[in-house]
Amino acid sequence: MGPVTQPSLFDDLEAAAETPVQHPLLDVRRIWAEPAAAASPRGRQVLARFPAAEVVEVASHWAVPELHGNAGNVDRWVRVKTENLVLGVKKSIATRENGRSANWIAPSTANGCAMACAYCYVPRRKGYANPITVFTNIDQITAHLRRHVAKLGPKPEPDQCDPAAWVYDIGENGDCSVDAVVSDNVADLVATFAELPTAKASFATKWVNRQLLELDPRGRTRIRFSVMPDTDARLLDIRTSRVADRIAAADDFVAAGYEVHLNLSPVVLREGWEADWTALLQQLSDVLAPATRDQAAAEVIMLTHNEALHEVNLGWHPQAEAALWRPDLQEPKVSQNGQVNVRYRVDVKRAAVARLRALIDQHAPWLTVRYAF
Ligand code: SF4
Repeated sequence: MGPVTQPSLFDDLEAAAETPVQHPLLDVRRIWAEPAAAASPRGRQVLARFPAAEVVEVASHWAVPELHGNAGNVDRWVRVKTENLVLGVKKSIATRENGRSANWIAPSTANGCAMACAYCYVPRRKGYANPITVFTNIDQITAHLRRHVAKLGPKPEPDQCDPAAWVYDIGENGDCSVDAVVSDNVADLVATFAELPTAKASFATKWVNRQLLELDPRGRTRIRFSVMPDTDARLLDIRTSRVADRIAAADDFVAAGYEVHLNLSPVVLREGWEADWTALLQQLSDVLAPATRDQAAAEVIMLTHNEALHEVNLGWHPQAEAALWRPDLQEPKVSQNGQVNVRYRVDVKRAAVARLRALIDQHAPWLTVRYAF
């Protein structure tokens, strides 16, 4: 299908109210849109935020071959991520059980990511560039979530996810802080959970979006800032906010009514990891305000890697692979979808988790570990 223009948008009051996005992560030139998605209020909002973008109609948000096939060419990936968005209507709206970080995985309101962490599993799903797809039927998704929460009723007993609330992960397939720049889907989710006293939204992020401070989460959205030693992040976390900036933002998010947790993730085992994690834990203790420390909890997630991603990364970022691909410490595990994942051997992982827990006890004793995995 060919490009279409969007002239009528600028007669549209709703669209005119949008401020065009100008950001290095998102210099959007082309929006690949299912017609129904482009015509919807949420779709029109996204188009209005990127008024210079050409709109290309597509039959399905999954089938945009022009966005695929750039494995191994990171310059091309990053260009594709920066210059493209996809608009689609989510067909199957379902909540899945989880139980680890969250009780439930909410239906995604977006997928893909404008950042490019070397270990990220998200790009494997939709071609390696994997630009952001926004689902425009947000009202159906929030209505589904309200029904799901109502049906559950109050949480009967505390668990590792939360002492009192059912926790719904709203950002499994991307980074909500960046998604919030593209559309109001995240704002709508935050507003939805603000009205649900038995539930909480939760998402992990590596990017600081201070626009989120203007929302009113009323304690019902948990932001999990991912942190790792800066040496690792500079090697692996491509296009993200610096770790020090994520830590520095935590107090502001608590003051704005978010719950702020920390993801100590991924933990990459390499020479000197214990000293660098010690320094990071000390930094957290020094920088975070008492109010932030009092409500904080952490997930510890050891690195999981993947053979196919390893092959791709070797083509553009071999230094990252020197840290991520450690056959001497790792063992393969075939996942449910047939991918060959690798993770640290059970004995290696057990010892590393125990060591990191001991470092937390020593240098950040205020930090409860919700789970280590
Ligand atoms: S920020 Fe998250 S979703 Fe985005 S590339 Fe990094 S790990 Fe993947």
